[in-house]
Amino acid sequence: MTDRYGRPIRYLRISLTDRCNLRCRYCMPAEGVPLRAHEEILRYEEIVKIAKAALACGIDTFKLTGGEPLVRREVPALVAALKALPGTRQVTLTTNGILLGAQLDALAAAGLDAVNISLDTLDDGQYHALTRRDYPVAEVLTTLRAAARVLPVKVNAVLLPETADQWLPLAKLADDPGVDVRFIEEMPIGKGETDPGISSDRVLAVLRTAWPDLAPCEEKRGNGPAHYYQSGALAGRIGFIDAVSHRFCAQCNRLRLTCTGILRPCLCYDDGIDLRALVRGGAGPDELKKAVEQAIAAKPEAHCFAAGHGSEQTMNTIGG
Ligand code: SAM
Ligand code: SF4
Repeated sequence: MTDRYGRPIRYLRISLTDRCNLRCRYCMPAEGVPLRAHEEILRYEEIVKIAKAALACGIDTFKLTGGEPLVRREVPALVAALKALPGTRQVTLTTNGILLGAQLDALAAAGLDAVNISLDTLDDGQYHALTRRDYPVAEVLTTLRAAARVLPVKVNAVLLPETADQWLPLAKLADDPGVDVRFIEEMPIGKGETDPGISSDRVLAVLRTAWPDLAPCEEKRGNGPAHYYQSGALAGRIGFIDAVSHRFCAQCNRLRLTCTGILRPCLCYDDGIDLRALVRGGAGPDELKKAVEQAIAAKPEAHCFAAGHGSEQTMNTIGG
């Protein structure tokens, strides 16, 4: 189904939880999130009902996110259930990688199509300061390499002032043929409101000191709004998600489902449709499909970051 601006909507980001084992400073408050009662969170069978309604509206690609999705139990079972739905094209996962190693084989066996691993720096000191936790980067890297042997991997790195010396080492991870590296402009949501913006042009200039032939490539590499570059010396690709400066909204193809069941047309606005109330109130497939259609129809033309206002919520709640 297309929205009123002619954009085909094919992609649903599903947040499994707003809890996380890290506290990235641009995403989560240091103190974490208030504990939600178990009943507030969508159960897997409820997510599957909503996914069926989304499929009926032409959405065929699902991304599991959070918070940290892998702090929830039995994610492979949900992957398998979503993959088994007629019409599902892809199910992917975005994770900070801390809990991924132990579940990698089960996720791949369940049919997971690809994984995004968020890693903003290879420097332990920087990693600890910005995630406010003490996990060693080396362990995330070991998991990343193991993941790349069984699934396509995209590394997501948010561009932050304190990690500018990491753009080259991070980009070098794309030496591995199974790994693309994407740099994401920090969005002014929640805790990200005060950093100065870093443009992809500035990062590209630094990367071209190592790979002078980096040039735009047209091939489609994923389901999102990234634009990609390639170099003869790198097996993978380097991507940029210019969420703020180049306004990625014209290609926006997605809706977002929060862990409490609110279907949000845009990450910048807090409005949404309460699908949990519908599912638990006994809504059938037609009613759920109508609600998804309504969310598609309500998609705004563009985000509102430039206007200086945006979501009141932090990214762990919205699902990135
Ligand atoms: N915990 C998982 C992870 O880190 O991949 C999934 C959830 S996280 C909210 C999804 C993505 O959103 C991550 O790549 C994260 O870096 C990104 N993100 C969070 N806050 C952001 C912000 N203010 N600006 C840009 N990206 C952000
Ligand atoms: Fe957790 Fe991901 Fe947010 Fe970091 S970006 S705090 S890992 S949800």
